[in-house]
Amino acid sequence: MEVNWRLIHAARNSYAVLSAACEQDGFILHPVDRPADDITCYSLNTINESEYRDEISSSESITIVGGPHASACPRQVAEYADYVIIGEGEFTLPRLLDKIERGIDAKIPGVATVDYFRPADTCIFLDGYPAFSQTQGFVEISRGCPFSCGYCQTPQIFGHCMRHRSIDAIAEYANRYEHARFVSPNAFAYGSDGIHPRYAKIEKLFSRLKNSIYFGTFPSEVRPEFICEESLFLLERYCSNTKLHFGAQSGSDTVLESLNRGHTVEDVILAVELCKEYSITPVVDFIVGIPFETDEDQGLTLDLIQWVARYGQVHLHRFMPLPGTPLAGTNARSLLPETEKICGKLALSGKLTGSWHDPEIRFFRRPSNDIP
Ligand code: SF4
Repeated sequence: MEVNWRLIHAARNSYAVLSAACEQDGFILHPVDRPADDITCYSLNTINESEYRDEISSSESITIVGGPHASACPRQVAEYADYVIIGEGEFTLPRLLDKIERGIDAKIPGVATVDYFRPADTCIFLDGYPAFSQTQGFVEISRGCPFSCGYCQTPQIFGHCMRHRSIDAIAEYANRYEHARFVSPNAFAYGSDGIHPRYAKIEKLFSRLKNSIYFGTFPSEVRPEFICEESLFLLERYCSNTKLHFGAQSGSDTVLESLNRGHTVEDVILAVELCKEYSITPVVDFIVGIPFETDEDQGLTLDLIQWVARYGQVHLHRFMPLPGTPLAGTNARSLLPETEKICGKLALSGKLTGSWHDPEIRFFRRPSNDIP
């Protein structure tokens, strides 16, 4: 049975992880740029899902779709895909492939079809699966998040209990390449319950890594209240990154509370000031257009954005109500003319990146016969 993996840039680390997991069970996921052969697997998020819908529904190959969007909307995706993987794929995908290959009823936990749905009854132990195999990936050091930010799918997919890969296993993968980069919802929470940091554990991890360490920067980030003398000292002593990526999201404490962020504006200001002291460039995420944000709240966010831009970089997102999250089904509020103007100016000066325009505009595709 030939099994393929549909190459999608946003899902490249999922390919590294899942091809390694499937390889353990004797299935090789061949990379393809269109559905082919017996089976084609996809990992889709809410942003790119519509782009692949027609390709999947018209495919002659059996299609299996996982990823954040499929996990949040399995019934919707099952209308055009043969099988949907709900949640973590390392255990479920090879199990499903085995059932299909042997022609056995593939109705198993963690899979949905047009007439079947059963949530997963397993939880992945990270050390039980390789971080990657033939295809190099980033080493996922932690999974799950104890927080419940209103816009975020992470805890809905991976749960609220933080799980960690062991130091031995991380070192085994990270030491294979010159640059070690990691996946985590909050890199400074490594080894902890996600709320109470254990910096000694992080130092123990760093002391086992031989090459250049990039921690708390792409593709991982940290939470602002975890940025302190202790964590920055570790960064300065062991790591090569000169940037630290963290989320502020809003300049209004009222909005932060409604979002359930679990930190304050003051935490963000302290984090930026500490970064300055350690000559680290803060790269700070913000969201504009949050549904319950008042004009005044948005003004406070704009003030904070401008202040952060003086010392670091801003990464801006327009609020998007992701399925499966507490804020699913809400609508982004409009942006003030001042917000558009100042963000535009900061973007031109290279201080701000991201997309704060209406997502409908960002994803609109003009039919080719429309082009003058
Ligand atoms: S945004 Fe970050 S801290 Fe909040 S729930 Fe998601 S992963 Fe956790």
